[in-house]
Amino acid sequence: MARLSDEFISEIKYRNDLGELAGSYMQLKRRGRNLVGLCPFHGEKTPSFNIYTENGSFYCFGCGAGGDIITFVMKIENLDYMEAVKFLAERAGMTLPEDDYDDSMGKLRTRIYEANREAARFFYSKLISKEGASAMGYLKSRGLADSTIRHFGLGFAPDERFALGNHLRSRGFSEAEMIAANLVFKSKSGRGVLDRFYNRVMFPIIDVRGNVIAFGGRIMSDQKPKYLNTSDTIVFNKSQNLFSLNNAKNSKSDELILCEGYMDVIALNQAGFTNAVATLGTALTADQAALMKRYCKEVVICYDADEAGQKATARAIDILRNAGLAVKVVTVPDGKDPDEFIKRHGDKGHAAFQNLLDNSGNDMEYRLFKLRSRFDMTSPQGKLDYLNEGVKLLSELDNPMEREIYASRLSDETDVAKPSIMEQVNRLIKRKAKNRSKDEFTRIRTQLSGRDDKINTQHAANLRAVSAEENLIAYLVNNPDKLTYIHEKLRPEDFSTDFNRNLYEYFSRKISANSDPMTTISADFTPDEQSKVVRIVNSYSDQNRTVQALDEYIDIILEEASRPSESDIRNSTPDEFASIFSKLKDQKK
Ligand SMILES: [Zn+2]
Repeated sequence: MARLSDEFISEIKYRNDLGELAGSYMQLKRRGRNLVGLCPFHGEKTPSFNIYTENGSFYCFGCGAGGDIITFVMKIENLDYMEAVKFLAERAGMTLPEDDYDDSMGKLRTRIYEANREAARFFYSKLISKEGASAMGYLKSRGLADSTIRHFGLGFAPDERFALGNHLRSRGFSEAEMIAANLVFKSKSGRGVLDRFYNRVMFPIIDVRGNVIAFGGRIMSDQKPKYLNTSDTIVFNKSQNLFSLNNAKNSKSDELILCEGYMDVIALNQAGFTNAVATLGTALTADQAALMKRYCKEVVICYDADEAGQKATARAIDILRNAGLAVKVVTVPDGKDPDEFIKRHGDKGHAAFQNLLDNSGNDMEYRLFKLRSRFDMTSPQGKLDYLNEGVKLLSELDNPMEREIYASRLSDETDVAKPSIMEQVNRLIKRKAKNRSKDEFTRIRTQLSGRDDKINTQHAANLRAVSAEENLIAYLVNNPDKLTYIHEKLRPEDFSTDFNRNLYEYFSRKISANSDPMTTISADFTPDEQSKVVRIVNSYSDQNRTVQALDEYIDIILEEASRPSESDIRNSTPDEFASIFSKLKDQKK
């Protein structure tokens, strides 16, 4: 693959500021030279995501994600390398040099979007035709207006196995493209392809940029599965997208309503609640919570009233809370799902559901309510059991004011004095904090031992050398003018570990060529390696900025290089061993 020149990438980085770009996806605060915020790539309540403004890189101490602005765009927009470069070039008003690069992945992605869009058109045309009469009847029976059906682009996949495939072929799509879109699959006999969806009502899934990325298909009979979704493709990952987020993001509400099914979302939209979304046939994931966090502060969970729905609610509360979102829970009365509830209220659907929203409790109220229902509150033992479990829930709250409020509630419900409830809560909190710091201690000890280092696999066996090597590399990248000084004292062979040696040579080459050493890290390293590189380069603190510190690193690296390895000792003759032994003794002095 021809690659873009360092100058071009450098220009892109010069014209796009990582801090400013990231700030459009998340809240960032300045801390010294750096910017910090809640990581957009994993759920967290305290910020461990750092942007290093000096060299335009980022690193998250929570999940280990790290890289430069190109990596950031790849991750947050779910693009491949070339697409991310294009995204940034366009953002800065630059054009990519023609034919100078391999864009096959980007081209296939575009073709999949086009095939999906054409498929959506095809399904819609079938829905409004005679063939789609039963599907249309089904949607009407669920109370959907024509305008709603059009707005969501609903459709019908006819009861044939070749309809869509033939249609797309006539529109110039290749079999490979249709298969890549998961619209068709190869038949078992290997001759020809079969439609993935047939005899189903179709729900297009559209991303926040308006691309049709996948479909959900609902069967109208009692056959299984009730819902069939597009499998993951290069444009679709079901655990990282949400149904109707494209509508919800424009709702101007800082609250999202999280439903279980597509029909719930559509019914809510029709009743005027455009801020409703649903997961795509799987349980809520941390990625989806992080995605919601970009568009809202609070999520109202509105799952079905059945047991499965209530279990899913309990799970979702944890995931959303961990992502730093406020959570409320709506309980639809009479065991109905939101779709049925709204339909039953007809014209008054909006007011009725708004009333539910207004009266919805936050997640704590919901949890206490659920807890209470498990115990016999008329017996002293029942009350005591409720109290013990309730205290556990309270100890999970981060906000002291919330703890006070719910301790009062527990006190009222159990006739136990509030101070003794608070004492219990505080004891649990202390115990948790102790466990946490123990875990943290274990984690740091493992990290320091190098045993969990998957990138530099020689780390654990070369602790002292690795620390000096990493410090030296950080020094070099931050002081490229010292390259000659370092080169005069240190050869690549002096490095004890292969990964650091290669990294040292890599940065040396970049600096010799007058490039910024970090310019093309996103092109030259795997994501995991890149995280490591960014962490090494940015562990450069004030105390290791001195030339004395540099000389010390060089000394240690040289010393460690002359240290005989275990296999040297094992394979040595008695004479050799004597000489190794005396050398070791010299070093100790
Ligand atoms: Zn993270």
